[in-house]
Amino acid sequence: MKVIVVGAGVVGTMHAWQAVERGHEVVHIEREAEARGASLRNFGQIWVSGRAGGEELDTALRARELWEGIGARVPGLGFRAIGSLTPVRGALELAVAEAAVARDDAAARGYELLTPEEARAVNPALRGAFDAALWCERDAAVEPRTAQLALREALLATGRYTFLPNREVREVVGEHAVRDDHGDLHSGDAVVLCTGAWLSGLVREVAGPVPVRRVRLQMMQTAPLGEPLTTSVADADSFRYYPAYASGALDALDAGQAQDPTAAAHKMQLLMVQRLDGGLTIGDTHEYEHPFAFDTVEDPYEHLVRVVESLLGRPLPAIRRRWAGVYAQCTDTTRVVHRQRVRDGVWLVTGPGGRGMTCSPAIAEQTANELGW
Ligand SMILES: Cc1cc2nc3c(=O)[nH]c(=O)nc-3n(C[C@H](O)[C@H](O)[C@H](O)COP(=O)(O)OP(=O)(O)OC[C@H]3O[C@@H](n4cnc5c(N)ncnc54)[C@H](O)[C@@H]3O)c2cc1C
Repeated sequence: MKVIVVGAGVVGTMHAWQAVERGHEVVHIEREAEARGASLRNFGQIWVSGRAGGEELDTALRARELWEGIGARVPGLGFRAIGSLTPVRGALELAVAEAAVARDDAAARGYELLTPEEARAVNPALRGAFDAALWCERDAAVEPRTAQLALREALLATGRYTFLPNREVREVVGEHAVRDDHGDLHSGDAVVLCTGAWLSGLVREVAGPVPVRRVRLQMMQTAPLGEPLTTSVADADSFRYYPAYASGALDALDAGQAQDPTAAAHKMQLLMVQRLDGGLTIGDTHEYEHPFAFDTVEDPYEHLVRVVESLLGRPLPAIRRRWAGVYAQCTDTTRVVHRQRVRDGVWLVTGPGGRGMTCSPAIAEQTANELGW
């Protein structure tokens, strides 16, 4: 069987991986010389902690298992089972963390509530003041800037994988075929369009308006910290964004403790992970209204620096890079992904939102199972 995959972000690459693993031949087409979308702009967090119970958590846990297995075979992914800590301050934030560890599925996530001393035993870099920390053992990380490249090298080594960069797919032709902007036709037994947040052009023509929206985020990366940050770190604002924390305690936090005005204005949380070079990837903001800003603004960065410095109890190294990224998210945010058969043999897979890096191996596995690969 021959599978045509369009889009070389993590969703497309994981579909290629699934097809090749199952013994099929893959032709992988990418508009740019390399993927340039959300998949390399993200934190690289394999984030189980805040997932909604049920299908979303099951998908994230399965995906984490798959990432670990792939990471063992492809060391260039930089897979690390580092877990995460969310330090909390004050009774209202503490109550949300307590509600999280009381969930039925807390053990599956590896949730535990730690004292500051216990948290510092896991992550000694957290020298700032806090009252407790929510530990999520299942969280992990990969290197987003190089993950696709490392996966591609492994795919090329199988001899069943062809990568065609600098080709934009412009048209779906009949069943099982696409034409690129060089005029070349690529036909196979199945076509999977993994075109990320590009919802106009090809996607609008073949699928019409899809129930997916675009979300823009601001990010930054620092110079090396000079010491290990042994876990990912989030702040209590993350409780406001992830469905796992929905509880009476969260309602009380929302009602009783206003978010910092900058954080509220830019719909922010702190997420932070150390890259293998020692620098910290730090974010993020959320922008939903179009047209998106074309530039990055400083206030959110200044807020994040303040939050990080208060948790680390030390100055942050210089910021070396700032960027923005856009992901596609199902408008019904309880849906893990938008998977649509747009023609016989042609599927569109998009909209995994802020969990696409985490869930992509399991999303691709499900596509492969559904399509009988
Ligand atoms: C700032 C930021 C931080 C995030 N952090 C995390 C995180 O830590 N953990 C997590 O789980 N998720 C995270 N996400 C979400 C995650 O990055 C995305 O859900 C995921 O990368 C989507 O992958 P994708 O392959 O669908 O899209 P993309 O990575 O955008 O890839 C789509 C590719 O398709 C190509 N393409 C489009 N149209 C065509 C065409 N017609 N022909 C050929 N090629 C085409 C594009 O050039 C692009 O390379 C984050 C997202 C952002 C923006």
